[in-house]
Amino acid sequence: MRLAILDGLRLGVVSDTTVVDVTAALPWPHDPDPLTAGWWRLLCRDFELVRPALAAAARDPRAPRTAISDARLLAPALNPSKIVAAASNYQGHVAEMHEVQERTLGSVEPWMMEFDVFLKAPSSIAGPRDDIVLPPDQRGSEIHHEAELVAVVGKGGKDIPPGDALRSIAGYMIGLDITVRSKADRSRRKSYDTFSPLGPWLVTSDEAGDPADMDIELKRNTIRRQQVSTRDMLVPVKDIVAYASRVMTLLPGDVIFTGAPPGVGPIEPGDTLRVRISRLGEMELRVR
Ligand code: MN
Repeated sequence: MRLAILDGLRLGVVSDTTVVDVTAALPWPHDPDPLTAGWWRLLCRDFELVRPALAAAARDPRAPRTAISDARLLAPALNPSKIVAAASNYQGHVAEMHEVQERTLGSVEPWMMEFDVFLKAPSSIAGPRDDIVLPPDQRGSEIHHEAELVAVVGKGGKDIPPGDALRSIAGYMIGLDITVRSKADRSRRKSYDTFSPLGPWLVTSDEAGDPADMDIELKRNTIRRQQVSTRDMLVPVKDIVAYASRVMTLLPGDVIFTGAPPGVGPIEPGDTLRVRISRLGEMELRVR
């Protein structure tokens, strides 16, 4: 099932051409206040229980529906407790970062070449039809696109064994981990507002298929910059989840970026970024 968040923080089920508003089928009172809304996290945790009611609502000919192209899609994430992100998770990206760091930092930072996880501010999340806004105080620094497979936590937990990890994922979506290249801490360089576009919807785990068998592609304007298969990840999704959950309890709805493919590079105001991932969809974002 493909789950979208619509204008007014309503829940949509996406079919081939339309988005059906199934908000009324949720078993919890609908809270449209972005500060307090917790229904999305409950949905991530309890999707299997709620699925039959959502499927029935999506088939109901009386349900309100909108063409996908006309739907006001918001980021398919709501009040996650955290954004976890993997660093240095494709060999080709690790290799290219030597040159990028020589150019932008003047030296290579060996600790940044090792796989690890870090945090981004949840307030950096933006929707699939929002613009990426480059901060004026970073003029003069390179700001890069990183097109990534994003996993969203379902049941979650602490110390999740790798063998159980994929069952603790609610689904997958496309993410961009927008990044200032500078000597500042990762958490600041990657946490500006709009630096975590997500979308276009959450594809639940059953429908998304194997997260180690997806193709990621990003075009900046007409030029393809990134193209990779997720099977090239150094640490696959199940092991990212297991590793992160040894540090911190993963809560329903938490967002996990799985690492940048090779081909990162600067973005400029006026650019259009087009990202697609197999079976998840595609989205197009403007930079300003
Ligand atoms: Mn990244």
